[in-house]
Amino acid sequence: MKDMSKVARSICKCGHKGDGPHSDHSNTYPIQQDGYGRCMVIGCNCSQFVWERFTDEMSEYYRVGSSKSGWNRER
Ligand SMILES: [Zn+2]
Ligand SMILES: [Zn+2]
Repeated sequence: MKDMSKVARSICKCGHKGDGPHSDHSNTYPIQQDGYGRCMVIGCNCSQFVWERFTDEMSEYYRVGSSKSGWNRER
């Protein structure tokens, strides 16, 4: 099982990873929000993370997680 705490969760409008400890976006200050600051990819002028979609890894993780929990398997 992959350690999901080590991957960025989402993709920004600019197409780079954000929202997580290993994102391409800086962390904001003074309110600590990992990966919500400006984009650190060279040549990208994105100044703040704007949520676009989950990363493929994260959507896979949610998909697997929800099928395992089986909340509509039994009534
Ligand atoms: Zn960017
Ligand atoms: Zn961005």
